[in-house]
Amino acid sequence: MTVKTLSLPCPTCKKIVQMTPQFPYRPFCSQRCKLIDLGEWANENHRIEGEAVEEEPWTHDEE
Ligand SMILES: [Zn+2]
Repeated sequence: MTVKTLSLPCPTCKKIVQMTPQFPYRPFCSQRCKLIDLGEWANENHRIEGEAVEEEPWTHDEE
C-alpha cells in the first residue's frame, strides 16, 4: 500500500509543503507565510493568474 502525499510549493516562499496535518497552514508552510499572503490581498497587490476571480460588480449610477 502506497500513500501518495501531495506536496505543493508554499505560495509565499516556494518551500515545499506537504498536504498533511503536519502543515496546518497548508498550502502555506507556516502561519507567517499565510499572513503575508493575506496581507498582500488586503493591499490588493496579489494577483492570481489563470484562476477565476469572482469580482464584485461595482456599479456607479451617478445621475
Ligand atoms: Zn512559506
